[in-house]
Amino acid sequence: LSPSPLADLDTAALREAHSSFARAYDELKAAGLSLDITRGKPSADQLDLSNDLLHLPDGAYRDAAGTDLRNYGGPNGLTELREIFSGALRVPVAQLLALGNASLTVMHDTIAQALIHGVPGGDLPWANQSISFLAPVPGYDRHFTILERFGIRMIPVPMNDDGPDIEAVASLLAADDSIKGMWCVPVYSNPTGAVYSEKVVRALVSLDAAPDFRLFWDNAYAVHHLTDDRPEPIDVLTLAAEAGNPDRPLIFASTSKVTFPGSGVAFFGASPANIAWFQHNSAAQSIGPDKLNQLRHALFLKDADGLTAHMEKHRAILEPKFAAVDEVFRERLSPWGAGSWNAPKGGYFVSLDVADGSAKRAVQLAKEAGIAVTPAGSTFPYGEDPRDANIRIAPTFPSLDELTAALGGLCTAILLAEAETLLADRD
Ligand code: PMP
Repeated sequence: LSPSPLADLDTAALREAHSSFARAYDELKAAGLSLDITRGKPSADQLDLSNDLLHLPDGAYRDAAGTDLRNYGGPNGLTELREIFSGALRVPVAQLLALGNASLTVMHDTIAQALIHGVPGGDLPWANQSISFLAPVPGYDRHFTILERFGIRMIPVPMNDDGPDIEAVASLLAADDSIKGMWCVPVYSNPTGAVYSEKVVRALVSLDAAPDFRLFWDNAYAVHHLTDDRPEPIDVLTLAAEAGNPDRPLIFASTSKVTFPGSGVAFFGASPANIAWFQHNSAAQSIGPDKLNQLRHALFLKDADGLTAHMEKHRAILEPKFAAVDEVFRERLSPWGAGSWNAPKGGYFVSLDVADGSAKRAVQLAKEAGIAVTPAGSTFPYGEDPRDANIRIAPTFPSLDELTAALGGLCTAILLAEAETLLADRD
């Protein structure tokens, strides 16, 4: 049987293809694999790149101004570290805070504070209203989890290659001022790798919306390039101010995938009014962040060029893994007309679409063959992918050999699932 697009096969040929996929799947299962491509974690050799942090700050404990960082205080975080990230994030140092160990905590707490106290420009705390958020899909499951925990309704909007579909966003915002927030991963979006264009960003900061509407600008992958073709960072704060909506963006980022996830530093950037609001809230929460961790990061990365050079080392490890995803899918899926996926220029994920109605089954088959893949549906609010088509591929953590084996097995599962779905449609 020579490969051709499954959907074009007559039923007899489709049955034959199905039998050969089922045989390949039985062999896969018999191989007793145990592989995991579920989460976007750095691999051990990426973590090794930052091992010097384990020896820092090596007795140092003062900042450039001479302040003793061993003590309480300094709620804005270490100036030297804020200076290193200010350019890449396009946030002036005075409006960029260096905080705790994870940006997700900052996002969660910012929404909690908005629910309890409201935000500048709003009349009421968000919790006193029935509110909703726009959620570009496919998107990041942990963003959705935060909103689900708080009972905030999510309205999916489609993602394009240059960011969320602006017509859809505009018509939703115009019709509904209960919409108070929107998730945005503007650079190498999780999972589609989309980079927001300046046109899309200008629209997002200028569209008519509620006065307390906020863009949750999660710039998690601002410096995580995989090619030399790098997007020019967009200064969303200036664009928002020019559009007359200076308080709209709330910017989040972290060193999680720069140094050690869980032992890194998170950042928050926003307009002066939002920063004052944030500081007022957090003064009740903390007497200051872990400045010694911030100091060791500043000593380790040194300056913006040091950050760029460090990210090149990550790229050298990651590029072959992302190339392997493209190669395996091209070799195994394309001949059967199965799957469509992106080749991201940065970030941590590849977004794969399989035939409608096949994603859950493919992931289940892979799991039964010992290959753990992010559950189908997790890239959509409430875990509900209306087409049951999207699968998020996280190629960073396994070794290249393990990754190639896992992807090969996943392709076997996908082909079997697609053939099953098509046959069921013809019954
Ligand atoms: N935002 C996005 C878009 C992510 O993909 C991730 C990690 N997968 C995070 C935030 C988590 O960041 P942190 O470790 O700073 O909480």
